[in-house]
Amino acid sequence: MHGMMMHRPLAIIDILKFAAESHRTGEIVSRRVEGDLHRYTYPQAYARAAQLAHGLKALGVGDADRVATLAWNGYRHFELYYAVSGMGAVCHTINPRLPAEQLAYIAHHAEDRLLFLDLTFVPLIEKIAGELPEGLRYVVMTDRAHMPESALDLICYEDLLEGQPEDYDWPELDENAAAALCYTSGTTGNPKGALYSHRSTVLHAFSVAVALGEALQEGRRILPVVPLFHVNAWGLPYAAPLTGASLIFPGPALDGAALFDLMEAEGVYSAWGVPTVWLGLQGEIRKRGRNPDGFGHVVVGGSAAPRAMIESFEKSGVTVCHAWGMTEMSPVGTQGHLPAAMTSLPFERQMDVKQKQGRRIFGVELKIVDEEGRRQPHDGASRGELYVRGNSIISGYYANREATEAAMDAEGWFGTGDIATIDAEGFLTIQDRAKDLIKSGGEWISSLDLENVVMSHPGVAACAVIAIPHPKWDERPLLIVVPEEGERPPKEELDALLMEHFARWQLPDAVEYMEALPLTATGKVSKLTLRDRFRDYVLP
Ligand code: ADP
Repeated sequence: MHGMMMHRPLAIIDILKFAAESHRTGEIVSRRVEGDLHRYTYPQAYARAAQLAHGLKALGVGDADRVATLAWNGYRHFELYYAVSGMGAVCHTINPRLPAEQLAYIAHHAEDRLLFLDLTFVPLIEKIAGELPEGLRYVVMTDRAHMPESALDLICYEDLLEGQPEDYDWPELDENAAAALCYTSGTTGNPKGALYSHRSTVLHAFSVAVALGEALQEGRRILPVVPLFHVNAWGLPYAAPLTGASLIFPGPALDGAALFDLMEAEGVYSAWGVPTVWLGLQGEIRKRGRNPDGFGHVVVGGSAAPRAMIESFEKSGVTVCHAWGMTEMSPVGTQGHLPAAMTSLPFERQMDVKQKQGRRIFGVELKIVDEEGRRQPHDGASRGELYVRGNSIISGYYANREATEAAMDAEGWFGTGDIATIDAEGFLTIQDRAKDLIKSGGEWISSLDLENVVMSHPGVAACAVIAIPHPKWDERPLLIVVPEEGERPPKEELDALLMEHFARWQLPDAVEYMEALPLTATGKVSKLTLRDRFRDYVLP
């Protein structure tokens, strides 16, 4: 027997429509690339999203067309999130930190038709336009007064909106229709696409709103430092308007002093980002001898939060929520708020728990399995690869069967590539990474891709790249080279080679030379042994 309830498709645009009607004073404040601060309310954001949808339609954007963005956290980027998905197209956020080669690959793979970009990225696009899909059109996210001179045919964002009606007849879409697309780096080769639906996105917004209700409340002000171009800023552009919390977007200024000033001026209660960003803010807090006024909550994720960082925030009265997730999970998987029963534990014990990656949010199931795929108990000691299942987790990668087959198990769970334990209270601890990747400042560097390029140098017989713990960036790459006899290729030469394929920040920080690489029983390079050997290595 079925229940007798209506079925209304879940739709992303309904979140903003709801905020415009019910959270009328909720604000979006943005530090703009143009230099000033811009502010408006959810009703105004909704009206402009409608204007933008008309503008997109005028440019010929149709159902399921991919509309790409290359932009910082700001109100125009937020408008794109809603207008593009709302009209039935797919909002494809591109990470500008990727090497040019991969940017071009992604734009081709996604078959982007339009690219919206911040002023910052005009020179980048001018440089690589020849590599981008033919017929791709560019819209610069600024007004006419700030439009740059360019050999490219650039459309002005504000021109697109001007004179357009402030409402739009949003189509009723299948809730399973694609709404947004985000590529994430693999252990090797080109990035892989996570294609979100309206349904997955709305359900994720609900789950995040419930799990992080401490921050997500009407009247609270939240600073997403986590970028809109990286995993949907952890779902904040959806969860904030859903709950009525205001969003304070930092634009391109992400250093400690700039963040401190913005947080204080705007009364930010909760700030979300990777550990590297909070290191900068904590430096500034130490310098000024106090927290920004009103600051009371921080969400740290993307890499393991160092204990010292958690303790220092907590001692100053800022509650830390250590979260874990992945692009493939929309992205939030766990959150680290303490259950009430643990808040009376001694401080040190509380910090032990806070250092873990937290408990699953509703809608995300976790399992850990050994190498034979057997489930391991949640006893806090048994380790295994972490698999996840849920409505906001990918069922495969966009147009990439090989990567899909590698990621999904026979029961339809997604393999995270993280090695973890789960304790009896449900707290996840990430112990290690099965995937051979380095995470620096929240962004990925592929060891294997670096190794492949280094191997093309005639003076290199063998090489390996490993992650070295780094106080600021969490991890940085160290290159270990076994030179051909009589050779010792200098770092500058290897860097020059790598520069052709990688962004500068992805290059190894140092090169070490060895006579041979340690091997595992099966004859593979033993990264474990190398990591042990270079455990205390101090990067220059
Ligand atoms: P995000 O950076 O938003 O977490 P990515 O998809 O880029 O999303 O990276 C996901 C991976 O980052 C995870 O599989 C895990 O290896 C690592 N990661 C994310 N959060 C944490 C955390 N809190 N502690 C340790 N590793 C983390």
